[in-house]
This record gives sequence, C-alpha cells and structure tokens, in this order.
Amino acid sequence: MRYLVTGCAGFIGSTLTEYLVFNGHNVVGVDSFTGYYSAAQKVANLKSVHDHKSFDLLQKDVRALSTPDMAGVDAVIHLAAQPGVRDSWAEFSKYLDLNLEATQHILQLCSDSDIARMVFASSSSIYGNQDQYPVSEDAPTTPRSPYGVTKLAGEALCKAYSLNLGLQVVCLRFFTVYGPRQRPDMAIHRILSAAYSGETFRLFGDGSARRDFTYVDDVVQACQLAASSEVLERFLPLNIGGSGDISMRQLIEMAEVATGRTVRLDHQPSQLGDVDRTGADCSRARALLGWTPKTPVDEGLRKQALRISAAL
Ligand code: NAD
Repeated sequence: MRYLVTGCAGFIGSTLTEYLVFNGHNVVGVDSFTGYYSAAQKVANLKSVHDHKSFDLLQKDVRALSTPDMAGVDAVIHLAAQPGVRDSWAEFSKYLDLNLEATQHILQLCSDSDIARMVFASSSSIYGNQDQYPVSEDAPTTPRSPYGVTKLAGEALCKAYSLNLGLQVVCLRFFTVYGPRQRPDMAIHRILSAAYSGETFRLFGDGSARRDFTYVDDVVQACQLAASSEVLERFLPLNIGGSGDISMRQLIEMAEVATGRTVRLDHQPSQLGDVDRTGADCSRARALLGWTPKTPVDEGLRKQALRISAAL
C-alpha cells in the first residue's frame, strides 16, 4: 500500500514510517519540523528511511498539501499536531492552527482526492476524569485542557466529513505513548534522563496519578491495522492503551529497576489540566481490528532506557 503519514519525523510518525517502509509499503511522509522540540532529533528519527526508495519526504505544513501530493495514496495516517497538555493554556492559537485547521485541510483533501480511509491521532485526553475505569469509547468526553478540546473537536470534524462525504475515518485514542524517540517533554523520557544524569525529575502532584502507558510499537501496529483492515463503520473511535494503568510512583520505581539508578525527585504541585487517571478499555479495538497491546511496561521501559543510555 501507499500511505501518506503526516508528522512522519516525530516520535510516533517516524516509528510508524520505519515500520511501513521496511515491511514493503510506500510512504509519503509529511512534516514541517515544527519548533516544539529539536529539529535535529527529528532529522535523526528519519535517518534509516531517508534514502530508501519507498520513502518520499515532503517537508511542508499539512495545510500546504494539495491534490497532486495525494497521487496514488491508498490511506492517510494523520499524526501531525501540536502535542502537550500544559502549553495549550498559553499558546492556544498554535493548537487551533496545527490541530484543527490542519485536520480540516487534510480531511478536505482526502475527500477531494477520493481517498477511502483516514486514521486520525486522537487522545485519551478527551476523556478527562471519569467515574469508572477502564474507560470505553462510549464514556462521556470531558477534556480538562485546551489540547484535549482540540483533539475532541478534531474527532468531530472527522465525523462530519465521514458522515457527509463518505470518507471512512478511524480515530485512534492513544493513551500515553512511550518508547525510543519519545518526545523530550514527556514524563518517561524525563524520568529516564534524570536517572542517568543524576539531575532531579520534576514530579507534578504527589505521585498517585495513574496513567495507562502504551508502547510505541503497539501503537504502530494499531495505526497500520486501522488504515488497512476492513471496518464497517464510516466513523470509528477506538481506544489504544497499554494493558492497565499504574501510578506515577510505581512508574518511577520501575524506571529505577530498568536503569539500575535512583531517580531524585523535585516535588511540584499538579499542573492545570492534569487528570487523576487514564485507563483504557481496548475491547473494541480487539474485536474490530484484532489488536491487543503486547509490550508490558517493564519491558518497554528497558528498551527506552537502553536507547537513552546508548545516546549519552
Ligand atoms: P511529535 O511532536 O513527536 O510528532 C508530531 C510531528 O508533527 C512533529 O514532527 C511536527 O514537526 C509535525 N507537525 C506538527 N504540525 C504539523 C503540520 N501542521 N504540518 C506538518 N507537520 C507538522 O508528537 P507524537 O508524540 O509523535 O504525537 C503524534 C500524534 O499522536 C499527535 O497527533 C499527538 O497529539 C497524538 N498523541 C500522542 C500521544 C503520546 O503519548 N505521544 C498521546 C495521545 C495522542
């Protein structure tokens, strides 16, 4: 198949692109190398595929794509976005541009170009805090941050396009993704880096917040299945989580085991928009895509720790 992957130089996008290219597919990768974190890291993320005959890089904003860019594309996997919950309070216009305008543009382009399927990177942040866990796709959506609001609105745009224009959209609601190449602002990257450097890890809250952590290779499998499997619904939201939630305190202990080092903590108050708990019921993804998460957190942490220590 020929996939168009937006956000191809980022954490999830580059891991997905590498998987697709080395498993016999063609990828048109789109990335504008936004300044959220180092462009050098994104260039390094694409090193293994950069010169591969099955990979073409379009270094531009999703909003600058036009119909010729879609030639021969079978499915679009739209990962490009402005991530990060905390900055979304102060920099909302950026989130509107990159998470909503860009999503509307690619949806319109898919419709104009008769692309059958689009996969949209949604997020567990659309759920906010819930009364019951694990959370199914039918749970009420009450995002607690402007970032979560843009992801929920992105899903609503996907639904409008799929119902009116026939495009089939699978919205994958990712629950905290981790693994090699993880974004430097994310907790596991910061914990492992702190373990090796001896610097402190800023822990927001008392460590009781619980998260469902999902290994990046499992997310990549979900993306490919969502883009290529036969699904009957025109608009399909699916939870993509790990296999259970753990507290931040437990996570830090596991990181200490994975690195053989102590993590020094700098306790900070909870941040605006942080939720108490995330936890995914993934039975729908299992039933409809045959997808289940395969990587336990201790194993995934070891793999990410190895990559970070090798880079020191
Ligand atoms: P990332 O920042 O590493 O990757 C995103 C990439 O998109 C970056 O390389 C950036 O340069 C590019 N980009 C952003 N806007 C663009 C635009 N308008 N045009 C072209 N390129 C653009 O982020 P990630 O962690 O890999 O996340 C990928 C997707 O998954 C995002 O949509 C994010 O919201 C979603 N998501 C991630 C997580 C997670 O835990 N990492 C959880 C839930 C949802």
